Amino acid sequence: MSIFDIGEAVDLLTVLDNREWRSRLQDKLKVTNSDKIVISAKLNIPGPIKNNDILQKVFMDGWQTFVAGLECNSQYEMLFAERVTGPEAFITVDSNLAAVKKTAILFEETYALGRLFDIDVMANGQTGYQLSREDLGFGPRLCLICGKPAKVCAKEQNHTLDEGYEVINQMYQGATSKELIFEKESQETVVNNALKGLLYEVSLNPKPGLVDPVSMGSHTDMNVFTFIDSSLSLKSYLDKAFKLGRNFEGSDLKLLFNALRAEGVLAEQTMFNATNNVNTHKGAIFSLGIWVTAIAYSTKDGSATMTEVRRVIQRMVEGLIEKDLASNRVATTAGEQQFQTYQLTGIRGEAVNGFPGVAEVAVPFLQATFGTMTQRLLDTLMKIAATLEDSTLIKRAKTPDVLAEMKEWTSIYFKLGGSHTEQGMKYLCDLDRLFIERNLSIGGSADTLILTIFIGQLTGLL
Ligand SMILES: [Zn+2]
Repeated sequence: MSIFDIGEAVDLLTVLDNREWRSRLQDKLKVTNSDKIVISAKLNIPGPIKNNDILQKVFMDGWQTFVAGLECNSQYEMLFAERVTGPEAFITVDSNLAAVKKTAILFEETYALGRLFDIDVMANGQTGYQLSREDLGFGPRLCLICGKPAKVCAKEQNHTLDEGYEVINQMYQGATSKELIFEKESQETVVNNALKGLLYEVSLNPKPGLVDPVSMGSHTDMNVFTFIDSSLSLKSYLDKAFKLGRNFEGSDLKLLFNALRAEGVLAEQTMFNATNNVNTHKGAIFSLGIWVTAIAYSTKDGSATMTEVRRVIQRMVEGLIEKDLASNRVATTAGEQQFQTYQLTGIRGEAVNGFPGVAEVAVPFLQATFGTMTQRLLDTLMKIAATLEDSTLIKRAKTPDVLAEMKEWTSIYFKLGGSHTEQGMKYLCDLDRLFIERNLSIGGSADTLILTIFIGQLTGLL
């Protein structure tokens, strides 16, 4: 099945007529909105079929993502046109030309189907004034098929229409298929990506109440160096976790988990030695260890789907809540106490369900983000914080009521445009200060972000 099986074929004359129509509409918008920026978007589709149900959906999904990420004070008239030559949209905004153009380029480069979009950004008043990609330090648009500058391939007619269709169909399937695939990778690749998860998380700034390179957040006993020391101290544990999974021969995966847990106890000791007895990554030792082991096990004979890896995790940790959280035990950790006091199952509950907060919330969200690494990870962290029962947050607030506050804070952040707007970023800095004032921290969300980065790196989402 190809995207291009259905649709009305258009000829060159119709395309040229449409170009004239668009240009006239752009001019009109520029005149009536002389103090604003005019943005127009269309799809860049080769061949005679340029519009059908699939292409309309691709366009609308992408356009909405793009508009949500626009850094602007106000948005004015928005127009849609379903042309036989393809869907088009126009919007005028109050903003800065370079900022909007940069958002458009980042969208084209990093949104899953962004390279199918053609977004024009035109400036206020100065007739026809436009910034080029090169003006903003970006290279020229590259050909989807061979990676040479797209203009060169268009001029020299380097590719057949079938080649174009094939690459677009592949991109579409890649972006819309729900199921993530883990390829069979070496120990080095898997463990390095797990370490990247730990190091990227602590490098991200600003985060509410968490440690980053410029702030200790709400913590008094750890800084970015503590986290680097801690991350590196876990390398041999992650190597062992991988080996356990790759070499396990039995069928009772609870035995695999028991072996991992024994290594986890030693890893905690190694971590405490590296950090002067500060708990930096206890949560990550538990959850990252499980994922590394499960991925190594699931991919021993070849690739595995996300569903398969999650099923392996569920078989590993089956019965964990009853075993760890039985009410007749003396609670020593925050997770255990919160189960006894509030019946919250925390990270163990996530694990026995195959980490739905990671696989069904955080990873699909990351997949839909666009922009720089920092923008994508900040938005993903806030999405996680909005939905997770964060045991660190509850512990520090001394009440689960803080979860409702967290939802409200994240909702304001996203309404302001999240990491893509100045207001969103200012709000995040304010939130960081509020967290420090109230001694709050979203350590559980940070652990989930670590897993999400690890999975994103391993499956090519990042
Ligand atoms: Zn090419």
